[in-house]
Amino acid sequence: MNNFDLSRRRFLKVASLGLGGYAFSHSIGNLSSWAVKSEPVTAIIIGSGFGGSVAALRLAQAGIHSIVLERGRRWPITPKQNTFATLRSPDGRSSWLSSVATFGDPVPIDVYTGVLELLPEDGINVYAGAGVGGGSLVYNGVTYQPTKANFERVFPRAISYEQMDRVYYPRVRSILQPSPIPSDILATEYYRLARVALQQATNAGLTGKLVDVALDWDVVRQEIAGERVASAIAGECWFGNNSGCKKSLDRNYLLQAEQSGFTQVLPLHVVTDIYEVPRYGYTVVCNQIDEGGNVLGQRTFFSKYVFLAAGSIGTTKLLVKAKAKGNLPRLNKHLGQFWGANGDTFGLRTGLPPTNPSQGGTASAAIEDYTNPLSPTVLLPGPQWNETQEGLLYHLGIGISPALGSFHYDQSTDSVKLTWPNNNPAIVKVREAALRTCETLNRGNITSEYQPSTAYVVDGITGHPLGGAVLGKVCDYYGRVKGYKGLYVVDGAMIPGSTGAVNPSFTIAALAERCLERIIPEFKLGKVW
Ligand SMILES: Cc1cc2nc3c(=O)[nH]c(=O)nc-3n(C[C@H](O)[C@H](O)[C@H](O)COP(=O)(O)OP(=O)(O)OC[C@H]3O[C@@H](n4cnc5c(N)ncnc54)[C@H](O)[C@@H]3O)c2cc1C
Repeated sequence: MNNFDLSRRRFLKVASLGLGGYAFSHSIGNLSSWAVKSEPVTAIIIGSGFGGSVAALRLAQAGIHSIVLERGRRWPITPKQNTFATLRSPDGRSSWLSSVATFGDPVPIDVYTGVLELLPEDGINVYAGAGVGGGSLVYNGVTYQPTKANFERVFPRAISYEQMDRVYYPRVRSILQPSPIPSDILATEYYRLARVALQQATNAGLTGKLVDVALDWDVVRQEIAGERVASAIAGECWFGNNSGCKKSLDRNYLLQAEQSGFTQVLPLHVVTDIYEVPRYGYTVVCNQIDEGGNVLGQRTFFSKYVFLAAGSIGTTKLLVKAKAKGNLPRLNKHLGQFWGANGDTFGLRTGLPPTNPSQGGTASAAIEDYTNPLSPTVLLPGPQWNETQEGLLYHLGIGISPALGSFHYDQSTDSVKLTWPNNNPAIVKVREAALRTCETLNRGNITSEYQPSTAYVVDGITGHPLGGAVLGKVCDYYGRVKGYKGLYVVDGAMIPGSTGAVNPSFTIAALAERCLERIIPEFKLGKVW
């Protein structure tokens, strides 16, 4: 008998016991009819981004069946190379259920289950990916490992950096296979901005380096040769890359999981609620939607094992709501706390040598200023697709922000809101750190011909939401939710606000690997229940 059959038999036993006496029955109505409607599965994974994809593959390799409930659709790259909308011509495919494009000019679009969600929270706007592959569909592919010192500024010593460095980062690397931009591509006119950035760093006494990027650089070569649609080289990224250059999770981790036969991905399934079935497991309720976001029906699944991987915002909101409504009442007081924006800022420097600023993505170089006294800071220059002026360098800045954000349930709207104290001096300091790094670069690059200056450094926007159900607080150090057997958090929600002055996906995936390695043996030995 396989795991699926076992779950089904046990579930039917639960249903036949008549669960109406349990505390949660009042909140979901007639439980026995509910139970009959539920579909039993061995393990449920909510969300198909970094945490969810790692969970899916490692469960599959252990011979454990899972379903992956993903709110968005699939985004397969086709020979027509027109899967995604573009920044230059956005349509509904660009944005998650929005009537205007979520990035760039807010042009009107058809409401559709597009790839990029904008969440206007209190004090901050948060971007998140939506679709099979999660944030990897829209990300730059920067696969950046923090230094030991910066990692240890954020994470408790219970999570050994040495072990992360020796085991888990390499494990993720072996699947994503990121690499730095090859020199022949870097030498092209498209990547002038990366070359200027590296030179500026050197001139200013800072570290300029190439970063590992999860791109297929051969495809980028084909873009340059005109054999594929210009996508990365044209500064596209945020709405996806039509050339197929991006190594998104649906093409590696998730693909391998699905090919195993143990993982079933269910797109267009939006999880709305999670309920405990005391002593037996969890019921997960979702709306099945069409590509326009219209609800087609409701499905409920039952399992003893639920992996939350809906991203920092998605996972935390589901849990905060479940606690507030009494569906997971024992979640502890730390839930919804310790959220941060990864020290993200966005900046622009002007008055530089020609940079060809609208081209040359998705990303390739970084400027490290880790001795910045205000905060360790890294600047990642990137293209601005609609820029026509020369001598500009746009960048994403990353510092180490304090995890001061918190989530609150609003009963009147049955929704959860994030609050971020953007004017808190500790947060302002991270923005000032980025400004300081810009000033260091400006000072070190004054010539008779060029006088660089900083046009702006702003915060209040992030694509790197982190925290809300943090390791060592809501979960133990392996993502096991305290007080709830078989319930796990394996995504950005487990990280306390920062990944140590680097982009977060590499650390999220590596920590998820670490969690799964610990969880799976217990799971298989039946120690969890
Ligand atoms: C434009 C952009 C560029 C980025 N570039 C980089 C980069 O270069 N390098 C880097 O390291 N990081 C980058 N990031 C950040 C990176 O994408 C995230 O840190 C990462 O994807 C988070 O992983 P996760 O597993 O926490 O969640 P996600 O990858 O966000 O996955 C969560 C998944 O859950 C789904 N979901 C959410 N709610 C529900 C629900 N209720 N029901 C069902 N499914 C649900 C979502 O659709 C999504 O697929 C970028 C982000 C953005 C927005």
